[in-house]
Amino acid sequence: MFLEIIDQLNEPKIVVAAATPCAAKPYPLDTCLVSGEKLDEMGKPFEIGYEGQQIQFCCKNCAPEFAKDPAKYLSKLK
Ligand SMILES: [Zn+2]
Repeated sequence: MFLEIIDQLNEPKIVVAAATPCAAKPYPLDTCLVSGEKLDEMGKPFEIGYEGQQIQFCCKNCAPEFAKDPAKYLSKLK
């Protein structure tokens, strides 16, 4: 239960990351940007838009990880 509560506390960070204009560039990979897992292996990918780039994660837990250091993960897209 505590884990669930912590999870909910993380949500606002995700919202901040997602609160950018609609993703213009489609996400080019079929793996999670944070974990490198195949996107559909854990169910529906979790998706955000970040500075005009669509980004997909294997699960929503990867989004706060991305929010800690977006530049590091974005460099994988280039
Ligand atoms: Zn994940």
